[in-house]
Order: sequence, then structure tokens, then C-alpha cells
Amino acid sequence: MLKGIAASSGVAIGRVYKLESPVIEVNNDFKGDAEAEKERFTKALEKTVEDINKVKEKAANNLSAEELAIFDAHLMMAQDPEFASQITDMIGQGNTADYAAKSVSDMMISMFESMDDAYFKERAADIKDVSYRLLCNILGLTIPDLTTIDEEVIIVAEDLTPSDTAQLNKKYTLGFCTEVGGRTSHSAIMARSLEIPAVVGTATVMASVKAGETIIMDALEGVVITDPTPEQIKEYEEKKEKFLEEKKALQVLINEKSVSTDGHEVELAGNIGGPKDVEGVVNNGGEGVGLFRTEFLYMNSELDFPTEDEQFEAYKAVLEGMNGKKVVVRTLDIGGDKKLNYFTFPEEMNPFLGYRAIRFCLDRKDVFRTQLRALIRASVYGRLCIMFPMIATIQEFCDAKAIYEEEREKLIAEGVKVADKIEVGMMVEIPAAAVLADEFAKHADFFSIGTNDLIQYSMAADRMSEKVSYLYQPLNPSILRLVKMTIDGAHKEGKWAGMCGEMAGDPNAAPLLLGLGLDEFSMSATSILNARKIIRSLSKKDMEELAAKAISCQTEAEVMELVKATLK
Ligand code: PEP
Ligand code: MG
Repeated sequence: MLKGIAASSGVAIGRVYKLESPVIEVNNDFKGDAEAEKERFTKALEKTVEDINKVKEKAANNLSAEELAIFDAHLMMAQDPEFASQITDMIGQGNTADYAAKSVSDMMISMFESMDDAYFKERAADIKDVSYRLLCNILGLTIPDLTTIDEEVIIVAEDLTPSDTAQLNKKYTLGFCTEVGGRTSHSAIMARSLEIPAVVGTATVMASVKAGETIIMDALEGVVITDPTPEQIKEYEEKKEKFLEEKKALQVLINEKSVSTDGHEVELAGNIGGPKDVEGVVNNGGEGVGLFRTEFLYMNSELDFPTEDEQFEAYKAVLEGMNGKKVVVRTLDIGGDKKLNYFTFPEEMNPFLGYRAIRFCLDRKDVFRTQLRALIRASVYGRLCIMFPMIATIQEFCDAKAIYEEEREKLIAEGVKVADKIEVGMMVEIPAAAVLADEFAKHADFFSIGTNDLIQYSMAADRMSEKVSYLYQPLNPSILRLVKMTIDGAHKEGKWAGMCGEMAGDPNAAPLLLGLGLDEFSMSATSILNARKIIRSLSKKDMEELAAKAISCQTEAEVMELVKATLK
């Protein structure tokens, strides 16, 4: 049994799909029949062409014509008669198919790499790609490709990047399990919005499981069971059933209010990464979108920053999908672990503390202005709120807001219809902003507390590192005090305070956040109904007392004890 971190609840039982590139080992110890060897090569080459066509077909929906042309270059290369005849000639001279294919490919790669012309230099990469695929086919090795999965599997990987996670097909992905990562790494957050069970931070899963074997992944407890007995499979099938039944039972709360027993109402909203997540928020009774992480629009774009019109369509779709309910869109929060194909971030020792989010946007105002224009144009389709990520100083907020105002004025002058009121707020995820919240509240229309980063920066503990995950303590009194300062700061100026970090959906945090006066809780859509159930069972007045006790505790463990006693 392997222990990891339960990152997205559920139970999965299924065959392992290992996301790992096979290592090519060629062997030229050839004693067989040259004709049979040539046949092995020809079949592998045919399969290579088929594979490239399949990948191209699958990618056709997401890529532009220009990007798809790369696959045509690969096909041309795989179907080049000269390439094939050089390999068959070498096989005829007594070499194995793998050795011949590798030798011819290596020769071509070094020839192209040594050319001066940039175009031909780049072709070397195409040859590498095609010959790797060909060699895998000759040797009977499978190249993992998340987009071509067409049966139910549990994906096992060292790590999944946010863009890997974006490619997961929910229909076939029973769950995923990684060696690295924590509860607030982006792949974990995405797993929750896709409702895919996930266990992360297992450290050794890759070495512990083989492709194709059946495993049990209990993403409620954060464990993976290899080589399960029939009894264990039965036990976990029952556990899975029970989990799904409990989830279904919560459906009765879909249209109910999120109100405490003494009549205090809060707003429960959902976090999304794009228009297709809106359905999940609506189906789970979300009262709005409290965080639209727009960076996924940028990460899914292959060649360049998404255009104003592309963004406009996405924002419009979300606003319309939420049917007049509040939608908080966060402007581009790129950098850290979130990379772009078409933009190279500077090498930094600490990218999480570096050139990212609003810092990047205030530097690349062209990119920022395009996003703001798209947002302001979309504002007439619903109730839009805009917020800026990673604000550290009042100057940053005012600079960002001024750019927003300029774009708004420009659009109005151009005769474009814009909403009368767009609230402009900020994420509170840097301790400096939490400490100065009462001053920030004089400028911002609202706050949304980003506890994923706020905890990371307060504890100086990388949120992606399972090694220091013991420091990720949402209920530590120091964090509760920062949350309280932020909420009190907002209320002093008559503004509202929300929370869109994962803490907002943590059942153990709910009583404290209710007591501290949080107005809006935004979480993974699948956590909304359970949060509603909890809020509806608590008295705001009692929770105020609980919160007061909690912030004067010394340790997270003491706070947890208070909370457990309350929830019981
Ligand atoms: C946060 O930091 O809490 C947050 C919501 O933003 P992200 O997880 O995207 O950094
Ligand atoms: Mg953040």
C-alpha cells in the first residue's frame, strides 16, 4: 500500500496507464531472416503513419491549421521513399530493423542539425519525433498519449502538468495518481473541478506499479493499493458505491439557500478554469462563479496569446452560462508552475516569488489591455466582477485599476456597450495585502482570499512540495488571523470578502469562516453541496464564539480539536 495526499475525492479501481516515455534500446545481434526483418520494419512504418494520422485527427479540434501542419511534415517524413529504402538496404546488409532505423535517422538528424538554415535545423526535431515513434513501433513499445486513451484507466505519472490535466478525458479517466504535488497544486485543483479522483505526492508510485495492472486508488484516504485481493476489490467497490450515494443524497440541497440556523446567509460559488466548467457549477447548485482562472485560456493557446475576440467569446459564454449570477474573473495569473508554449519566462531562482501574475501584466501592458478589453466588452452578458491576482502593494492595485479605467473609457468612446457597473477587486494571497487589508479596502470593491498562496507565503512552504506539506495548515491560528484581518478590513469599508483558495471548500474550515464573517465561499463545484449542508447546520452566533477561541489558540491541532467538537 502506498500513502499519498487525497487531492480529489472518490474511489477508483482499474488498470494502470503509465505516463512515461519508453526508453529505446536497439540491438544489432541479428541472425534471422532479412525478409522477415524488412517486413517487421514495413509494418512498424505503416503503424507510424497511422499513429500520426490519429494524433492529428484528435488534435484537430484544439489546434489551428498552422499547428496541424506540423503533423503533415511528420507524415511526409514517414512516407519519404528515400528514408524507407535506406533502412531496408541496411537491413539487407544483415542489420536488425531497429538498428537500421536508428542509424538512418541519426544520420539524417545530424545532417539537418548541421545546416545553417533555421528552417532545416528545425526539421531535425521532426525527424527525431518520427524516428522515436518508428523505433517504438519496431520494438513493440507504446508511447503514452493522454489524448488517445480510449478505455477506462487510472493514470499514473511522476507529475501531471496543468496542460496534461487539461487534456484528460473524463470519460476514460477513472482517476490519477502522481509522485509529486500537494492538495493545492494545479493538477489537483483541476482534478476536483473535473470530478476525477486523485491521489498525489505518493513519491514512489511509478516504481511500484506496472502498466496494465489493476490497482485500487482510495482518494478519500489518499492511499493506493497494488496487487489487490478479490476481497479488497469488493470492499472498495462498496466504498465507491457509498461515496456516490452520499454525493447523490446531497442533491436535495441544490436549490436551497446557504443559510445558517440563525438566518445568516452566505454565498457558495464555484471555481472554474473555462466555459466548460460552468455546467458543473450550475449542476452543483453554485450561486455564482467566485474564481475564473483565465490562465487556462492562455495555456491552451498553442502559438500566441489568445486574441481579444477569442477571450471575449469565452467570457461571454461563462457570463451567459451563469444567467445573471455573479462571475468573478481573475485576470491572467501566469508564471510559477503555469507556463506558456509561446512565451519564455526569465530563468529565476524562485519563480513563485518572481515575474508572474499582476507583475507580468503591469510589465506586458499590451497583453493586459487585450484581456481587459475582452472582459469589458463581455460585461453586458451578465454580472461581471474583475479581480487582479498577486497584489502586494496599493500602487499595483491602483495601476492595474487605472489601466482598466482607460480601456473602459476607450471602449465607451468607440461606441461599444459596456455594463454600468463592473466591480473591480483583488485577490488577497500575499501576507502584505492581508495585513494592510483595511487600507486596500479603500480602493478595491471586494477581496477574494487566495489561501493556496496565502498559506504558502505565510508559512514559506512550497505548495507543490509533498516534503513540506505538513506546513500547509489552513487552520493554523496565524492564517486565521490573516483571514480575519482581511474580512474585517473589507467590512470596515462596506465591501464584501470572499475566499477562493481551497480552504473555502474545506469542511473543517467552514465553521470558522462562517464565524469570521466571510461573505462568499468559492470552491471546486463538487464541494458546494457538502459545504451548504454544513452551513445549514450551524449557528452564526455560535461560530463567532468558536472563531474567537480559535484565533487565540497556539496550534492548528488545538483549533482542529475545537472544530471537530463543533462538527460532531
Ligand atoms: C490561491 O492562491 O488561493 C488561488 C485561488 O489561486 P491559485 O490557486 O490559482 O494560485
Ligand atoms: Mg494564487
